[in-house]
Amino acid sequence: MAYRSTIETLGDLRSHGMALFGHCGALYAGHGRLLDLDKLIRLFGEDHVYINDPEIGRKFVCLECGHVGGSITVMANTAVPNDLARPVPAATVDAK
Ligand SMILES: [Zn+2]
Repeated sequence: MAYRSTIETLGDLRSHGMALFGHCGALYAGHGRLLDLDKLIRLFGEDHVYINDPEIGRKFVCLECGHVGGSITVMANTAVPNDLARPVPAATVDAK
């Protein structure tokens, strides 16, 4: 697969292990959840550009209060590659 320097479509998000998080738009609600990326791809297509897209936020439904509409945040893939996932050495304590 050719290297792509942009992550601008729903398919790009999926292939990079990233996600979208929906924030409930109800006043002071503070609700939110990770969105089902596979479902979004079924609805919008994997070539759908999520950047500056109003549709995903407009169709967001809060599962806690039922409010329709919210804002969307991109979640980075912060998984640690296996070769870096070594245990952190315990801090050495200078016991005098
Ligand atoms: Zn809500």
